[in-house]
Amino acid sequence: MDGDSPAAMSTGGDLRRCRIMKQADVVVVGGGPVGLFAGLSLLQQGVDVVVLEARAGGSAGSRAIGIHPPALRCLEQLGLIGAFLEAGTVVREASVFVDRRPLTRLRFDGCDPQHDGVLMVPQQQTERLLAEPLQDAGRISYGVRVDSLESTADDIVLRGDGAELQVRWVLVCDGRHSALRQALRVGMPVQAYAHGYIMGDFPDATDFGAAAAIFLGRQSLVESLPLPQNTRRWVVRLRSPQNACTADEIAAIVGQRTGHGLDAASCTMTSAFAAEQGIAERLRKGRAILLGDAAHVVSPIGGQGMNLGWLGAAALIPLLTQILNSTDPAAPALSAWERQVRSNWQRARRRAEANMFHGRPLRCPQLHRALMHLMLDTPLRHRFVRHYTMDGFT
Ligand SMILES: Cc1cc2nc3c(=O)[nH]c(=O)nc-3n(C[C@H](O)[C@H](O)[C@H](O)COP(=O)(O)OP(=O)(O)OC[C@H]3O[C@@H](n4cnc5c(N)ncnc54)[C@H](O)[C@@H]3O)c2cc1C
Repeated sequence: MDGDSPAAMSTGGDLRRCRIMKQADVVVVGGGPVGLFAGLSLLQQGVDVVVLEARAGGSAGSRAIGIHPPALRCLEQLGLIGAFLEAGTVVREASVFVDRRPLTRLRFDGCDPQHDGVLMVPQQQTERLLAEPLQDAGRISYGVRVDSLESTADDIVLRGDGAELQVRWVLVCDGRHSALRQALRVGMPVQAYAHGYIMGDFPDATDFGAAAAIFLGRQSLVESLPLPQNTRRWVVRLRSPQNACTADEIAAIVGQRTGHGLDAASCTMTSAFAAEQGIAERLRKGRAILLGDAAHVVSPIGGQGMNLGWLGAAALIPLLTQILNSTDPAAPALSAWERQVRSNWQRARRRAEANMFHGRPLRCPQLHRALMHLMLDTPLRHRFVRHYTMDGFT
């Protein structure tokens, strides 16, 4: 195989392999959902781009599932909306319960002119759909870990496994604990919350169909979200974060709080996670730009993190394409982009905060019930729907 052939880059290896190959204008470090989205967007703009992913192949676990209307519009632009709709389930309404008693049904119709709900797609499917065109073009390399980078005025040098790679721009998409953000000496102050969550995917034995269900009450939140193939994700709030959980534990708490029985033996995935919110002190340094969880985190309750990363990437890619093709200084356009990302993150942070507030253990469920009735059974419900569907994000 010709060492300069782009196809040679799809099979993985280390940076030493990359060094002898064709150098790209843009390297995306991290092939999670945001790095893949950014890489594919650049590829479609005709940019010479390569995605480097440390894992040996696609991811197995599923964290992000909810894709909101603003992010669905981004998938339209990529020409992938049909494939995503086929792979997922659209949630058009949510049933709300307080202490097991039905309170109301929140319908999402009218939340967006084109997309009347939130699309649920398991993260590994999302990554597969985004990775396939990159793989076909030989523009993704698995099993490549970048350890550090150094930005100069004219280019940027990536290092790993004792080898170096010189490129024009790097998109840092290596996730929440970004080693490259640390190598750039960019801090990310994070607020950690005292409570935690556990979740699992189980066969769907409810009659909710494609609706979500939100259980509030004295014992705090349980969320139930439909997934394709007759599966439901159950998310349970706990007093404090824990490192792991079992399907039996989730089933026991869900049964106690909601009355729904889960078949623990058929559970396909469990996970425990904490709620954190934060944004990096700066989103670019020299020719390195932070995107996705490397740039910002929001509490997973409300399902906004991946969506936020995609919106940031979708706004950046046309600018970067322009910058690559011109001699104009990049700073003004990138400063405006950074302001937009910060403002989106602030909005997502506030919404996640509100979601966590509603999911707390209720001291007086009767009062909460009355207040929720007032809000959800009046025109104020439209505000709630907009809140839950990331309306207003650009
Ligand atoms: C339980 C849970 C549920 C969630 N649900 C939702 C949801 O419904 N909707 C939503 O929008 N968001 C959700 N989120 C948030 C979402 O998962 C993240 O925001 C999203 O995964 C961020 O994507 P990313 O590509 O930035 O980072 P990651 O997904 O963390 O991917 C980073 C990638 O970089 C690779 N990498 C790391 N270091 C290197 C290196 N040095 N060199 C090369 N590669 C490297 C990693 O292997 C990984 O593949 C949820 C999060 C959790 C925890």
